[in-house]
Amino acid sequence: MIRTRGLAYRYGAGSPLQFADVDLPQGGTLLLQGRSGAGKSTWLALVAGLRAATGGDLFVAGIQLGTQRGAELDAWRARCIGFLPQKLHLSSALTVADNLALAYFAAGRPRDDAAIARALAQVGVAELAGRKPHQISGGQAQRVALARAVLLQPELLLADEPTASLDDEAAADALALLQTSAAACGASLVVATHDQRVVQALA
Ligand code: ADP
Ligand code: MG
Repeated sequence: MIRTRGLAYRYGAGSPLQFADVDLPQGGTLLLQGRSGAGKSTWLALVAGLRAATGGDLFVAGIQLGTQRGAELDAWRARCIGFLPQKLHLSSALTVADNLALAYFAAGRPRDDAAIARALAQVGVAELAGRKPHQISGGQAQRVALARAVLLQPELLLADEPTASLDDEAAADALALLQTSAAACGASLVVATHDQRVVQALA
């Protein structure tokens, strides 16, 4: 699902971040561990094709990154990658259901309201469909973002610090939900974290 060789990324004129080689099989789980500033979020952005590597080779979900551009790359990402970013990027102007519907627009597919309802129910927030993001809690917002990430049944689910602002119980719930959501669509899962609770739970 993911194969990296000699992957590197350089911001501006700084010294490059060098990443260890990764081989993640289809359906596998990878814990991306490291201190703050180690490069975890950067690595996720490379794997999702949101940044272009400045060195090395990267194969993700059937393509070699760097060989696709623009609309082609965007279509691949919309189809294959579910991303739960650290900052959730829910649009404040839209309802929860409409935020999920954005995934269909991004993928150029017709909106499926039944699937949206199912995805929200699967993460336990079916009743929030008509609310705006400012009318739900942080933990609920994260569930909504997870539902959006898995709505199109991605091959790969990437989560960046999914437990960062959660207490112990909510963190354990969020992690379990990530794992069941990935398993439900047969996706490989990558969790980037510096949270020792996650490290212990996934070890
Ligand atoms: P992590 O997610 O592990 O905390 P990041 O991938 O966010 O690490 O950052 C890795 C390194 O790259 C850090 O030293 C950070 O300061 C630097 N960095 C991250 N984003 C940028 C950026 N947009 N411009 C310049 N440097 C950046
Ligand atoms: Mg980070």
